[in-house]
Parts: sequence; structure tokens; C-alpha cells
Amino acid sequence: QADLAVYQAKDSGRNTVRFFDRDMQAKVAARATLTEDLREAVSAEQFMIYYQAQVQEDGCVTGVEALVRWRHPQRGVVSPAEFIPLAEETGLIVPLGQWVLQTACVQLADWAAVSETAHLSIAVNVSARQFAQHHFVDEVLTVLESSGANPQRLKLELTESLLIMNVDEVIEKMSALKARGVCFSLDDFGTGYSSLSYLKRLPLDQLKIDQSFVRDVLSDPNDAAIAKTIIALGKSLGLGVIAEGVETSAQRDFLASCGCHAYQGYLYGRPMPIQEFKSFHITD
Ligand code: C2E
Ligand code: MG
Ligand code: MG
Ligand code: MG
Repeated sequence: QADLAVYQAKDSGRNTVRFFDRDMQAKVAARATLTEDLREAVSAEQFMIYYQAQVQEDGCVTGVEALVRWRHPQRGVVSPAEFIPLAEETGLIVPLGQWVLQTACVQLADWAAVSETAHLSIAVNVSARQFAQHHFVDEVLTVLESSGANPQRLKLELTESLLIMNVDEVIEKMSALKARGVCFSLDDFGTGYSSLSYLKRLPLDQLKIDQSFVRDVLSDPNDAAIAKTIIALGKSLGLGVIAEGVETSAQRDFLASCGCHAYQGYLYGRPMPIQEFKSFHITD
């Protein structure tokens, strides 16, 4: 059909314009619908959190990452790759992120009440736009207080896109939360534009090796070199390093031999609803 359209386009400029107009119009309409649905979803709380294990070298689960899912009434489960970018553009990421944080902190407080789960931490993704909100620090502290969650069990995952903000402001906000015990991990590390001079100034606890470097770490020497460099960098900056997207024990063994001792990926479990996570990882 596209070929036909191009053919017609060559024949008559007017057809071209109409074809692409209609195509564009459909895309804009679909986007508008999805935006409306997303707005509705935020107020109707159509979201749920899937939890994915984070483990140390002996296989013990030290915590989880909270990954949001949208249960769309017609479309079923929509993946974050589809709606997070839209949520960012429309600003809906702010109330959505707040809901994720709140839900995760309630979960943390639940776990703290049971000795078998009291040691678990939860990593929550925070978008740059959410972090940039004036009241971000206060909101996190309020959620921690109202939920009764231990701040030391909360890890906020930031990305390098944060550094488009004023760096002093970023440091100030992070430091305020760190003073209360909250930890910070730099997500998708190596894929952004952060300069090393900024990196050394941020009060981070952990670097998270992006899965794009982990995927072919055994077959692509460049990926192996990057993974090794990130691990060495973390070590010399006094930061922990966790690898995401670990799917095979061979990948895990290679990363371990480079000095990375924390992992997350399908090798240990997919992101899953809380009930499944409980029976999968917390039964003894
Ligand atoms: P991320 O924070 O880098 O999360 C890791 C992604 O990798 C998740 O995708 C996870 O399901 C996937 N993953 C984990 N292990 C493996 C593996 O072994 N192999 C492969 N191929 N993939 C693996 P997911 O859940 O689709 O989330 C995608 C992104 O959406 C996240 O990337 C994060 O940037 C964003 N996101 C998810 N939840 C939230 C949220 O609550 N707030 C914000 N701001 N962003 C979120
Ligand atoms: Mg993450
Ligand atoms: Mg990540
Ligand atoms: Mg990633």
C-alpha cells in the first residue's frame, strides 16, 4: 500500500500530500486517544507494579526493582516502553511516579514487618521530570513517613537525562534525601551523555550497567570492554555496580570475573506481580 502511495505520489503531488496527511492524522488521533486513556488511567489507578529480583553472587535476593505495568481496559497489559515516553511528554509521569513510589513504600513497610523479608530493598525508577518538581524531596519524605517505610530500603533509580537540570540543584536534592538514608542508583549507565566530572559530584551509591552492554558481553569485545570499564569506574569511585538484563549464567560468570557482584535479569526471574514474587522468591 505504501508502494502504491509512493507511485501515486510521483504521479500527482496532491495525492502525496493527502496520503501523508491522513497517515499523520491517524497517528495524532491515536496518540490523543492514548493520552486521554492515560489521563483516565492515572485517576482510575489502572496500574500495577511488577517486581523483579536483584540478587548477589550467591543467588540471595537482596531486593527488587519496581516496574510499572498499565492494565488498559481494552488493550490488556501495555508495556512501559509504550506509555512512559508519552507520560513524560504530557507530564502525567508526575502523578504516575508518585503512585509507584507510594505503592512501593507501602510494600516496603509490609516486608519490614516480617523477619524473612525485612532485609529487602525496593528500587523505584524516577524520571527526570518527576525529580525536577519543586516538591520532589518533600513528597518522597512524606510518602516515607506516611507509609512507615525505612528510607534505607528505598533506592531511587535516576538516569543521566537528569543532568540536563542544574547540577547543583540535582546534588542538593539528592543530598537531602541521602541525609535521610535513601540510596541512589544511576540507571542505564553508559547510554546517556553524562560527563565524568558531573558523575563524580553526584552522591550516588550504585551504577547500573545497561542491558545493551550485557546482552552481547560474551561475543562483542566492545561490550565486554565497556562493561569492564563501568565496573572498574564504580570500584574506583567507591560505588556499587549492578548489571541489568542478565539472562545466562555465562554472562553472570563473566561479569563476576570482572568484579560485578550484583545482578538483575531473566536468569533470576522476570518482573512479576507481588503474589507470584512472594511464592517464587520468599518461600522457605
Ligand atoms: P529499566 O529501568 O532499565 O528497567 C529494566 C527493563 O529491562 C525492564 O523493562 C525489565 O523488564 C527489562 N529486563 C529485566 N531483565 C531483563 C532480561 O534479562 N532481559 C531483557 N531483555 N530485559 C530484561 P520494562 O519493565 O519493560 O521497563 C522498561 C523501562 O520503563 C524501564 O527500564 C524504565 O526506564 C521504565 N519504567 C518502568 N517502570 C517505571 C516507573 O515506575 N517510572 C518510570 N519513570 N519509569 C519506569
Ligand atoms: Mg530501572
Ligand atoms: Mg535500567
Ligand atoms: Mg534499561
